[in-house]
Amino acid sequence: MRQKYVVGNWKLNGSLPGNEALLKAILPEVSPKAGRHLAVCVPAPYLAQVRGLLEGSPVAWGGQDVSRFEKGAYTGDVSGAMLREFGATLAIVGHSERRTLFGDTDAIVAEKVAAARKAGLTPILCVGETLAERERSETEAVLARQLDAVLEKSGAAALDGALLAYEPVWAIGTGKTATSAQAQEAHAFLRARVAKQDAAVAARLPMLYGGSVKGANATELFAMPDVDGGLIGGASLVAEDFLAIWRAAVAAG
Ligand code: PEP
Repeated sequence: MRQKYVVGNWKLNGSLPGNEALLKAILPEVSPKAGRHLAVCVPAPYLAQVRGLLEGSPVAWGGQDVSRFEKGAYTGDVSGAMLREFGATLAIVGHSERRTLFGDTDAIVAEKVAAARKAGLTPILCVGETLAERERSETEAVLARQLDAVLEKSGAAALDGALLAYEPVWAIGTGKTATSAQAQEAHAFLRARVAKQDAAVAARLPMLYGGSVKGANATELFAMPDVDGGLIGGASLVAEDFLAIWRAAVAAG
């Protein structure tokens, strides 16, 4: 049985008082639950604050990106070791916003996955097609290309202990969720592709769906056999909405 994860992606949102209020509203409602994991991926400047609020709780924390470099003249980057120093255990890698707005190519994403692993972080590798790609029936080709870049650089071992997130770009922040059948189809495709290299790694790889997940649709999505939780943007900023998704994950399976 695979572990289930609900991971919040705060994106470029937050403030010291706002973060504290949000986490203090979430924490009393979250009790440790075997096989279920809750985490938040926060802007790097808030890592120290979030560590102070979450240390010793069942909620983990992580970064939203990681440098492909370990150190040096890379202004603006945050290394995996730096994230680890603040107790982060996770790092989102290859989010579509990084790919489209900040030039993260498939090759760069593959390097970032390797850097995260080297630093001892669990990468959350994001893949997903745009609406135009879906309408051209290119979904599988795009997912294959994005996944293969990582598999070709580091092998299936890079995904052993990692998380894979299917995030159709057309569903992120748009209010349009993939149907549970669409999510399942993409997840099954991705799992089969990993299995071609290593069936055992594929079988234990937690695969998250991301794209306008809400309390109202989480139960149906999490009931799919290859959907092992969610990567949550907007709804992770509202305690009650995030908790509703967490409860759906706790209740699933
Ligand atoms: C995301 O940012 O990864 C995401 C899925 O956002 P939203 O839940 O807002 O669609």
